[in-house]
Amino acid sequence: MTMLYGVIGDPIAHSLSPLIHKGWMREHGLEAEYLAMQVPEGDLPQALQTLESRAFTGLNITLPHKKAALAIAGGATRRAGLIGAANTLWRPGDGTWQADNTDAPGFDYALKEAFGERQTDPSTETSNVDALVLGAGGAALAVAHVFGAEVRPTVFCNRTASKADAMVGVYKASHPANKNNTPVRIAPFEALKNELRVCAFVINATSLGHSGKSIDWPPGEGRLVYDLSYGRAAEAFLAPARAAGWTTVDGLLMLVAQAACSFEIWFNIKPNIASALARARRTLDNAG
Ligand code: NDP
Repeated sequence: MTMLYGVIGDPIAHSLSPLIHKGWMREHGLEAEYLAMQVPEGDLPQALQTLESRAFTGLNITLPHKKAALAIAGGATRRAGLIGAANTLWRPGDGTWQADNTDAPGFDYALKEAFGERQTDPSTETSNVDALVLGAGGAALAVAHVFGAEVRPTVFCNRTASKADAMVGVYKASHPANKNNTPVRIAPFEALKNELRVCAFVINATSLGHSGKSIDWPPGEGRLVYDLSYGRAAEAFLAPARAAGWTTVDGLLMLVAQAACSFEIWFNIKPNIASALARARRTLDNAG
């Protein structure tokens, strides 16, 4: 019997997840199908009931359902609970959906690769200087968990200042060492220019690039900007940074790496990240 998997979101037509997962299913000769399903905000409970009756066993969850997916799940990993959002669901056979957040390990993997390409150890490079994280949405919370677990010196900066408190909360909860003396702070959005001058590197977890926008970049002197978005959105955000001398990396490897973590949860197989990255990159390049 064909095993059924898929991704739920709204919008969903642009999703590269079917390309990535179907490629791995083919590579491993699995009798499985992976579908993209558009489900409007608020409709996740009914959608999950329908998919249960059709014997779906694994799902990826994207905007706007990640918080709802965690709330509906019968159980969740510690990191999904800390981040407050789930992007992966599976049914272990006891009638429940279980939840995890693989954005966090996907980001961790991709950032280490990005530093690896520069032949620099991120832990030594950033021991005294802050990482600057822009944004405080769902994806940014996964970044806060990864940096908190590493006790990495970090500054959070978001347009809506109140949301940055949640980032610090996730950061602190991610490692016992963060309870008292934590190397974490919030910077107001108005102070962004100064923070960009002194930070070790930048993570962009805003959706600015999706509306063709970027920020004012001071000279980068080779420092890294890691943008979680990819395709046209990343290009819009990163092109001005490159022009100012920053080293830029987009979020496509994070996308593939988080998918690999989901695939491993579902099939207990570590898929080939390089082959999927090449397929995804080709597809984006062909789309212009
Ligand atoms: P959310 O909608 O949850 O958060 C958007 C963030 O962008 C908020 O912090 C928001 O600030 C900020 N923002 C939006 N417009 C502006 C603006 N004009 N000026 C300043 N800040 C702005 O999105 P997600 O967290 O889900 O996604 C964020 C990015 O990460 C997207 O580009 C998405 O594609 C990418 N992503 C990549 C993944 C990958 O695997 N590579 C996985 C998940 C996401 P405010 O709080 O003030 O509204």
